[in-house]
Amino acid sequence: MRILVTNDDGVFAPGLLALARAMRSLGEVWVIAPDHNWSASGHVKTLHRPLRVREVELADGTTAYSSDGAPSDCVALGLMGLLPGEVDLVVSGINPNSNLGHDVTYSGTVTAAMEAAISGKPAIAFSLESPEDLSEPIDFSAAERVAEQVAAEIIRHDLPPGFLANVNIPCLPLEQIKGIKITRQGLRIYHDELVRRLDPRGVPYYWIGGGVPTGVPEEGTDIGAVNSGYVSITPLKLDLTAHDQIDLLKGWKWQDITP
Ligand code: MN
Repeated sequence: MRILVTNDDGVFAPGLLALARAMRSLGEVWVIAPDHNWSASGHVKTLHRPLRVREVELADGTTAYSSDGAPSDCVALGLMGLLPGEVDLVVSGINPNSNLGHDVTYSGTVTAAMEAAISGKPAIAFSLESPEDLSEPIDFSAAERVAEQVAAEIIRHDLPPGFLANVNIPCLPLEQIKGIKITRQGLRIYHDELVRRLDPRGVPYYWIGGGVPTGVPEEGTDIGAVNSGYVSITPLKLDLTAHDQIDLLKGWKWQDITP
């Protein structure tokens, strides 16, 4: 089992080291991660500049590759030939903040896993719901154990090509985590505010500010599970088709505007 580990927070983020450690009991671990923080960068394919890769050493002495590309570029590099041989599983994280509901479209952590799914490789994104205003360093130890056990259970099964799981872990000591729930995406509520200020030359600039996102903690959703102390596992797919609207649209008068 050859496992590619990546993240969107940068190669030296403590969550990446925790995930690399967690995967070591499951197979041969390779780390390729961005050289800086790409959080909320969405799904990126860098086509208009070269990608550079260098070898770095993580805090525990692990050799890793660092790239100036996005998280999804790091996965592409790993799957298209930077690593010797085939990759069996791609894992991304552990992101220090949750990726729930609509977050998956913004998340560099999740889109790195999506890149693997596009290449037909199974992938898991891991995020920890730590408070945004935490003053002390984040403790990834419980999330590390959860990641190891969740990945082990996923590996035990015959996975369909492009299997993609979005895992969110409540920020609790291991013994206080209530269990695991298989969920659907919930409804995220954003509290973004556009801040307009003037630069020193009097030209306006804009900054997206506002409060941290909340969500509707509905039963059966990722938000509901994490809010009530459970690890949430949401199976995702990249087919975003709104199947319930196909028949509706078919009934409209498209023949009138066909050239
Ligand atoms: Mn991040």
